[in-house]
Amino acid sequence: MGLIEAASGNSVWKGVDYCDEKKVVSWKKVGESEYSGVVSGSNKKLYDVHIDKAHPRKSTCNCPFAEGRRVVCKHMIALYFTAEPQAKDDFLKEVEKWEAEEEQREQEHYEDLEKYVKSLSKAELQTQLLDALIQLEERRNWW
Ligand SMILES: [Zn+2]
Repeated sequence: MGLIEAASGNSVWKGVDYCDEKKVVSWKKVGESEYSGVVSGSNKKLYDVHIDKAHPRKSTCNCPFAEGRRVVCKHMIALYFTAEPQAKDDFLKEVEKWEAEEEQREQEHYEDLEKYVKSLSKAELQTQLLDALIQLEERRNWW
């Protein structure tokens, strides 16, 4: 599991913003899979951030959210994406791909639905429509 997977979606997207806004003041590689850096917080406070890609839960940051907890915060993600821009590009591409696939699935679902409806006879359509209307009415009464 990588840093991105260990973080909440919220932390990842805020990390992307922080990276784009160049909130990482300084950073250096300190190990095979580790970086240390200073990241500017929303309140202009500076946080000491250490990330370990191989062991995300060993990453640390002294912000109120992450201090003393084994969580991945937005400052860690910002540091990661600043030190490895390729990781950010890959992540954004992955999201784009997922969204395109989701759109494709939705499209296919509607096409299937349309095909199904067009395949029905008039009598079947009348039955189905009546059922749907009754269901709709029951739901309305229910609420
Ligand atoms: Zn933090």
